[in-house]
Amino acid sequence: MVTVSIIIAVVFVALVAVGGALLAPRVRRRRGGAYTGREAASRGAATTAPRGEASVAAPPAEVKAPEPVPEAPAPPGPPGPPIEKPPPSAGRMTRLRSRLARSQTALGSALLSLLSSGKLDEQTWEEIEEVLITADMGAGPAASMVSRLRTDVKVAGTSDLTEVKELLRADLLEQVGAHLDRTLHAVPHGDRPAVLLVVGVNGTGKTTTCGKLARVLIGDGRTVLLGAADTFRAAAADQLETWGNRVGATVVRSDREAADPASVAFEAVSAGTARGVDAVIVDTAGRLHTKTGLMDELGKIKRVIEKHGTVDEVLLVLDATTGQNGLRQARVFAEVVDITGIVLTKLDGTAKGGIVIAVQRELGVPVKLVGLGEGPDDLAPFEPQAFVDALLG
Ligand code: GDP
Repeated sequence: MVTVSIIIAVVFVALVAVGGALLAPRVRRRRGGAYTGREAASRGAATTAPRGEASVAAPPAEVKAPEPVPEAPAPPGPPGPPIEKPPPSAGRMTRLRSRLARSQTALGSALLSLLSSGKLDEQTWEEIEEVLITADMGAGPAASMVSRLRTDVKVAGTSDLTEVKELLRADLLEQVGAHLDRTLHAVPHGDRPAVLLVVGVNGTGKTTTCGKLARVLIGDGRTVLLGAADTFRAAAADQLETWGNRVGATVVRSDREAADPASVAFEAVSAGTARGVDAVIVDTAGRLHTKTGLMDELGKIKRVIEKHGTVDEVLLVLDATTGQNGLRQARVFAEVVDITGIVLTKLDGTAKGGIVIAVQRELGVPVKLVGLGEGPDDLAPFEPQAFVDALLG
């Protein structure tokens, strides 16, 4: 009996020892399954390192990488700012009329005080002409306006300030060009968007104008895409993107610095067509390096866009505070590209509102929009009546 018990005990101990030896490697492999896919792959490579034991410690069939653990979804980022809905453009000029206060004082009030002096002699008429010239109206328009006003006052035979003011108002309106067609052509042609090319010397407010113009159009119910073809100034594309993001307008830009502006313009119009937007606004670089260089650059952009269709507007951006210098720039641009409209920026910062008259006369194209401040909605369709009313207070 004792012998039998001893034999049973020996057999039991032997079985336990053999079983333990067989089970030990399986536990190690199972632990390895807890690694992520990538970690498991590198770990697998390490386990199969050339030691001659690989087939024992990790036979090929059993080192296959465990199923990758699906990555946890990224936590939602902070919500972006809400898309803005700009106000419609109608009546903006009237709303912003107080921004013309400097021109009102220097031009409107000065003229009215001279006309109300009671003695409209030769010297007073000369002084009136000087006021007009000082307000950057230009010598020619100033002379012709004084001559006309003189005749009108004489014919009316009045020195009553209200009547004289009415005559002045009518003559100013005539000079500003109340009859000019200032329509901004931003309506699509079938399935092709309208294309508005924005040109001008850097620093005039060109990129800002592109952003504000997008808001004008969006405020009026259109859809817009912006093309950042000012690839010369690195910050311009970022600036445009900020404007676009605020109103949910796509911006097409190059991911390379100094990329070919014509190819960015082409991409922008292609993208605008594919997305079915109403208008594509293309910002360009305004380097007056050489006239030929400028002509080549703008000419190429225009030609490339015209492969898709028409360029509906070429808007020249001019800084109203630069006076004669601005007019010189205008001349150069007019020689290299067919300008269809002028955007006069920073009219809020000048006492020389007469530039509206001078630049239209110089280029023979109307001022279509005016910049009246740095706010996002401070770009207004130009309205001659509201302008003249603002000048005369
Ligand atoms: P760009 O180099 O021609 O593209 O010029 P930017 O668009 O960068 O504008 C140059 C500066 O002019 C910026 O500080 C604008 O805020 C400012 N600016 C643009 N338009 C107006 C405007 O109508 N009134 C005022 N006061 N500032 C303006």
